[in-house]
Amino acid sequence: NLILAFESSADETSASVVKNGHIILSNIVATQIASHQRFGGIVPEVASRHHLEWIDRVTQEALMQAHITDPETQLSAVAATFGPGLVGSLLIGLMAGKTFAMVHNLPFIGVNHLAGHISAANFVKATVYPAMAIMVSGGHTELVWMAKENVFQIIGTTLDDAAGEAFDKVGRILGLKYPAGKEMQEMAQKGHADIHFPIAHTEADFDFSFSGLKSAVLNYVHHEKQLDRTINKNDVAASFQKAVIEAIIEKVTLAIEKFQPQQLLLGGGVAANLALRCAVEDLAMKYQLVLTEAPIELSGDNAAMIGAAAFLAYKQKHFSGLDLNVDPSLNFTRM
Ligand code: ATP
Ligand code: MG
Ligand code: FE
Repeated sequence: NLILAFESSADETSASVVKNGHIILSNIVATQIASHQRFGGIVPEVASRHHLEWIDRVTQEALMQAHITDPETQLSAVAATFGPGLVGSLLIGLMAGKTFAMVHNLPFIGVNHLAGHISAANFVKATVYPAMAIMVSGGHTELVWMAKENVFQIIGTTLDDAAGEAFDKVGRILGLKYPAGKEMQEMAQKGHADIHFPIAHTEADFDFSFSGLKSAVLNYVHHEKQLDRTINKNDVAASFQKAVIEAIIEKVTLAIEKFQPQQLLLGGGVAANLALRCAVEDLAMKYQLVLTEAPIELSGDNAAMIGAAAFLAYKQKHFSGLDLNVDPSLNFTRM
């Protein structure tokens, strides 16, 4: 089974050929970060123009690297992200996918981007169900219950900022470029987590809140400036990162105890964070749970993870019509 997959929900234009849902034959990712950096975030108009410019090249490259010369006979299906994300960005990848499927007479599979992030763990090991996924990305932070394969239900989500968004906003306060997650991690490694930033305790059991933490950092920085004290940015990064991880681990612990999953999955851009990985590994060990983490290089947006998720739908012959439209606010349903 070979699936050609497309991803274009944010600022990465990507095409990939995935074999049997867990072997990458090609995964071409064209990133546009440099074009957005001076604006401190993604500019939707700029993003969709980039996608349009790059989609054909990444497709050709993905097919070539996977030695696909006759798509109609070699491929089993075509997949593309149809949400959530930026409408103008999603449109390009979805249109490319649907068109490719039509031209080559292949079934088409629309994929939820978040199911993609979670399925990146499949490149490491197959999932045993019931499983619980910790999905931490730039726009989402969710605990997802998977009673069986290809079924995703939200048991907790962020009430305000996503974890990645918090990293990016605090990075901005510290004068870092967008996206700041990786640099924040590097600074945190050099700093001491000795500043107390409060963790929000949300009322609903498994929900998160990160905007208060961001404000606490902002207040701290202002306060120190007013007193003419120089702040140690590494210490701020370390203390902030520690608070984010503690907040995540606290909710995941509660959810493990209540839902008793067989396996834990970690995915999304923030899953690249080494300190978070360590904390989740410790937790899995404590509860003797199998843990699969998205490989660091597949934590961020890429089409291979979309191919992995599409394979789960393919196995159930769950195809989409060519009239499928983008859904910018697509998400799983609450449990
Ligand atoms: P979504 O998947 O919710 O639609 P997105 O696709 O924009 O949002 P991703 O590409 O999955 O988000 O993840 C990007 C986010 O991950 C950014 O906020 C970035 O700062 C963060 N990130 C990347 N690497 C790290 C890291 N090492 N530590 C913390 N955060 C990180
Ligand atoms: Mg991105
Ligand atoms: Fe993403």
